[in-house]
Amino acid sequence: MTVRVRLAPSPTGNLHIGTARTAVFNWLFARHHGGTFVLRVEDTDLERSRPEYTQNILDGLTWLGLTWDEGPFFQSERLDLYRQAIQTLLDRGLAYRCYTSSEELDQLRERQKARNEAPRYDNRHRDLTAEQEQAFIAEGRQPVIRFKIDDRRVITWTDLVRGTVTWKASDLGGDMVIARAASGDAIGQPLYNLAVVVDDIDMKISHVIRGEDHIANTAKQILLYEALGATVPEFAHTPLILNSEGRKLSKRDGVTSVAEFQAMGYTAEALANYMTLLGWSSPDSTQEVFTLTEAAKVFGFERVNRAGAKFDWDKLNWLNGQYLHRMPSDRLLDLLMPRWAAAGYEFDPQGDRPWLEPLAALLATAMIRLDEAATVAKLFFETPLTYDEAATAHLQQEGIAPILEATIAAIAATEGELDSEAAGAIVKDVVKTSGAKKGLVMRTLRAALMGAMQGPEMVPSWLVLHRRGVDGDRLTAALALAQG
Ligand code: GLU
Repeated sequence: MTVRVRLAPSPTGNLHIGTARTAVFNWLFARHHGGTFVLRVEDTDLERSRPEYTQNILDGLTWLGLTWDEGPFFQSERLDLYRQAIQTLLDRGLAYRCYTSSEELDQLRERQKARNEAPRYDNRHRDLTAEQEQAFIAEGRQPVIRFKIDDRRVITWTDLVRGTVTWKASDLGGDMVIARAASGDAIGQPLYNLAVVVDDIDMKISHVIRGEDHIANTAKQILLYEALGATVPEFAHTPLILNSEGRKLSKRDGVTSVAEFQAMGYTAEALANYMTLLGWSSPDSTQEVFTLTEAAKVFGFERVNRAGAKFDWDKLNWLNGQYLHRMPSDRLLDLLMPRWAAAGYEFDPQGDRPWLEPLAALLATAMIRLDEAATVAKLFFETPLTYDEAATAHLQQEGIAPILEATIAAIAATEGELDSEAAGAIVKDVVKTSGAKKGLVMRTLRAALMGAMQGPEMVPSWLVLHRRGVDGDRLTAALALAQG
């Protein structure tokens, strides 16, 4: 089986999580079958399409690792192809010019509403005589082009997710507009369903994988494939993403664009992993943390749910934490530095790597999302350090100054690199010379070096501060506090 799939986003907004999830399923399916993933930008809606949205979509897909093999193709550059297909349908008597005015359509709709009927075009211009057409043209009316829909048809396909789907042609709203109004023999702007089918035929798409909100379009599109004499592809309609109330996730739910998730500090790997789980589960249900490539090995539509997929923030956060914890510290550091710079922290991105990298390693388990980067790292950058109330109170207790003095002396006497072994030896030495308990020494060092009684592990934090060259200053400042 030659698999060719496509993602066909409309650049009328930033890359939406729903489109990204559709991209994930397309990508997984293509990679699973060694197929081709085509990217096609559906920018025929000239009023709402914007180049910056196209850029945002391409950037978002790239960031997520959803690489495409062909494209991006732009529908706006392929209008001739659609017009040729429309001309073919006209020539075959499968489409016609319709002169019904918008006032007439409104009246029709009103009457249908009054009778509690679903709105539909009544096909009134399907069989106009040449004289009738001439009369409308003489009135200056500009026709749209409609594709004939045989109301007696029942459209059926075997959906890879939903099984047998049946749609009555009589529920499709009457003959369908495939080109906007234009004067004379011209063919106006081709419309969505037509353009999609022409492209999917031309691009030899074998499987159309998209959200279930497109099911009614699929019924219409199958009729177009038939009319154009093309093989109908396979369809897989994926479940919608729902909010916590079980409704379709929308702008009102706050965060919906991939760029927003990125800004919040989700990693590309975690978000891609999470989207894979939105409606699909691995054959090994215990396995929830995987890369796209790992998922592609076992991906298939038989494990995609029909029911909507609830967006679960807790799960996404958990996954993100997993990825941050497991990330090599040099990569994590690259993600942290821009956020530290944005917070105004001063460092040399190259020269300071010897202490920044262990800092990244230390903080990996302290964050769920990267937007916590500045908060969790604050104490390491602060000069001078601020001592919170608890740390100040601790340092001002009786008997603290000798501990600090002994520490300062022990550090000065340490030869070579300060590593965790050397730090352990210093603590032991301080316990001996000051006569204080080890617990008190450790709490004192935490208060003195970190300005708080809670936070990341003390010894690794100390080593980072030592490499930065500020542990001595901090101990001296703490000693001043301790001596009142
Ligand atoms: N352009 C359509 C959309 O953004 C997708 C069409 C398709 O996948 O067939 O919803």
